Amino acid sequence: MSRQFDVRPNTRPRSDADRAAILADPGFGQYFSDHMATATWTKDAGWHDREVGPYRPFELDPAAAVLHYAQEIFEGLKAYRHADNSIWLFRPEKNAERMARSARRLALPELSTEDFLDSIETLVRTDHAWVPSGGEGNFYIRPFMFASETFLGVRPSQTVTYCCIAGPAGSYFANGVQPVDIWLSTNYVRSAPGGTGAAKTGGNYAASLVAQQEAYDHGCEQVLFTDGAERKWVEELGGMNIYFVTTDGELITPSLEGTILEGVTRDSVLTLAADRGLKPVERRISIDEVFDGIGDKSITEIFACGTAAVINPVGSLRTADAVHTVADGHPGEHTEGLRQALLDIQYGRAEDSRGWLRKVC
Ligand SMILES: *Cc1c(COP(=O)(O)O)cnc(C)c1O
Repeated sequence: MSRQFDVRPNTRPRSDADRAAILADPGFGQYFSDHMATATWTKDAGWHDREVGPYRPFELDPAAAVLHYAQEIFEGLKAYRHADNSIWLFRPEKNAERMARSARRLALPELSTEDFLDSIETLVRTDHAWVPSGGEGNFYIRPFMFASETFLGVRPSQTVTYCCIAGPAGSYFANGVQPVDIWLSTNYVRSAPGGTGAAKTGGNYAASLVAQQEAYDHGCEQVLFTDGAERKWVEELGGMNIYFVTTDGELITPSLEGTILEGVTRDSVLTLAADRGLKPVERRISIDEVFDGIGDKSITEIFACGTAAVINPVGSLRTADAVHTVADGHPGEHTEGLRQALLDIQYGRAEDSRGWLRKVC
């Protein structure tokens, strides 16, 4: 039995013309490349049937456990094409480790870092023609794992499917970096002590969608959640971590207390902050402290970060009775500087002094 992800080529890939048309305007999350990686885990045999084969629909029994009990986890990372045409991943080992942590929380089997990286690198090499060049285009990679056993009993699934799909993405901000307005959710929480907030699992997103809809209804694009116990401490957005820049030169982000997703971008920003003379601080910060800081201008910038948007400036925080506009509502200098610094490393325009990049081909 193969220990590696061997390639079974797609005999009917998209034509060069179709692919070129997609790459000209890929958007996000709509188009996928010609192949996908899969592997199966069973209680008795462990991980087996590793392959990179044609992109195709799953055949899933209606009684597959994931459809009923949501035993599922995922990851998200990108491949970047550099000016010399080489293709690189950014800190993929961090995603492998996080997927293993998520797996433990969701009672799913761990996939080794070796398998995780092999599945991604084999897929990227096979579909390298799908990796955009120029601008901030990238190849978005979505590894995930779910309970595929046909069984309605409530216990950890004894059959699990791992899959990795990927597709081209255009730059997140097609018309330049735009600040987002954020809705403070007071009716809902996404996470609670002892819950799954620190795991990257679809259930957290399912729980956040009604709050997301509430945000849209109030003219906002994103939701900010506070903690589930006291509804007092700032946690994160539905899918991004949050940062506050202060007049003291601090870069504050909520500390990880088991209820916040530990973002790879979050960690990278904490590291890069020092290069800009900012002092990275991880601590609890209450929503009242944030409102006061915006009001007395001791908080000068707020931004959110995650792989998809990289760094997203926050223009305002909104509640049912107030709009708290951050500074003058435009992206701040540290927000823009950190965003540029991160992108320059990812696209090979700045020296990768920390060894964050991993070459695929
Ligand atoms: C994925 C995710 C993030 C961002 O993590 P990155 O590794 O930086 O992409 C933040 N919050 C939640 C809830 C997430 O699912």
